[in-house]
Amino acid sequence: MPGYFMRFFRKSFCRHMCGAWLLNGFPALLQGGNPLKGGCLDRIASVSGRGDGRSGRSWKSARSLCAIFLLGFFPTGAQSLEILASFYPMYVSALNVVGDTPGVKVTCLTEPFVGCLHDYALTAGDMKKLAGADILVTNGAGMETFVDKAVKQSPVLRIIEAGKGIPQISGDNPHVWVGLSGAIQQVKNIARELEAADPARAEHYRKNADAYVKKLEALRADMHAALDGVKNRDIITFHEAFPYFAQEFGLNIVGVIEREPGSESTAREMAETIDLVRQRKVPALFAEPQYPAKSARVIERETGVVVSLLDPVVTGPREPSAARDAYLVAMRKNLDVLRKALSE
Ligand SMILES: [Zn+2]
Repeated sequence: MPGYFMRFFRKSFCRHMCGAWLLNGFPALLQGGNPLKGGCLDRIASVSGRGDGRSGRSWKSARSLCAIFLLGFFPTGAQSLEILASFYPMYVSALNVVGDTPGVKVTCLTEPFVGCLHDYALTAGDMKKLAGADILVTNGAGMETFVDKAVKQSPVLRIIEAGKGIPQISGDNPHVWVGLSGAIQQVKNIARELEAADPARAEHYRKNADAYVKKLEALRADMHAALDGVKNRDIITFHEAFPYFAQEFGLNIVGVIEREPGSESTAREMAETIDLVRQRKVPALFAEPQYPAKSARVIERETGVVVSLLDPVVTGPREPSAARDAYLVAMRKNLDVLRKALSE
């Protein structure tokens, strides 16, 4: 028996490592014949007495057939590709579009705990990462103010702007991905641009993007089903991250707790928000897991309206296996939080 396996192995993988047995022996096996009869084409040439199998037309054609066979598995021109995502939501989208495409690596330029990139300044480490990357996936719409500097630093870098062509709302609000429709459009844009930049792997990107978009569409449908019937739709959010989300589900953002994220509200701003909550009988106050909820807690104490957390998915796990589903998981959690807060 071991002898049979050795012969089987030798037939399967000739010295070209072309696996040409698959072209000959495997069909023979399927037709009920002897699988050991099929081998590499240069062996066949040798056996049939046309030369020694290492020279002449037969061997050349065998070699080119082997090459064609190999090309089927490993597309030519498919050099390794380094894709950088500017920040977490772009990282999640890019990871989903790339999936397990061979030779393509996706990393996040900024640490997955950084959050939104409002006023972010590139570090020396970021510059190094940019210099080694082929493609930078950005949200655009003013989120990455450092792009020009990055391009100057690394002129060969190709920029894929995920939010390109998506109409902005509330002035220049860059939080496009927080709305489900915006996220879907961004994934499609990333896939389309990656297909153009890397045609050898276009099929992978298209297939992966289609599968992810289906998941996002199912999530969007579930969220509409749960939120469309809610009566009181006034909410107050932490920073200006939710206009696209509110537009998607017909919610009214009547106030924002911290107009500049990270800079605490003034006493006057706080008093205005407290008045607003009382006058409009706002049922829900939302802070974000990325920022301390200190101001929100003061408003909660003053008004009795409970603070909940809404996640704009700007932070999350780094490991690709967990990061891939981070948007879907966070949005399902947001749905639970909203349903609970708006029904109270
Ligand atoms: Zn933001």
